[in-house]
Amino acid sequence: MKSYRKELYFNTNSRRAFINITPELNEAIQASGIREGLLLCNAMHITASVFINDDESGLHHDFEVWLEKLAPEKPYSQYNHNGYEDNADAHLKRQIMGREVTVAITNGRLDLGPWEQVFYGEFDGKRNKRVLIKIIGE
Ligand code: ZN
Repeated sequence: MKSYRKELYFNTNSRRAFINITPELNEAIQASGIREGLLLCNAMHITASVFINDDESGLHHDFEVWLEKLAPEKPYSQYNHNGYEDNADAHLKRQIMGREVTVAITNGRLDLGPWEQVFYGEFDGKRNKRVLIKIIGE
């Protein structure tokens, strides 16, 4: 069995962002030489997510509105976590959108459904963040 590890780096210029990382994951599979196996991709921060959904801007706006209803950013004083930090909402949003995805690799490609794309979800941006890619297989 082979294994391959890579990190992706982000520093968004907005507090929240959704970034399609599907091409980077397929590039990592190519670099790994693995044709059949599994890919794990996870955010390495507790205020960011990796998730699978549609690459459609209306839906991304809907996610933003929905997450703001569930865990509004402001007022910062509504959260016990906020004191030295102002990112309690980002921790909560990350929990709902998930930490990681695992995707099958078939014939050297991500074996995704027809509309599935992998996204990095940033909820506390404007700082350096990392995503881990781990691939195992042969
Ligand atoms: Zn925090």
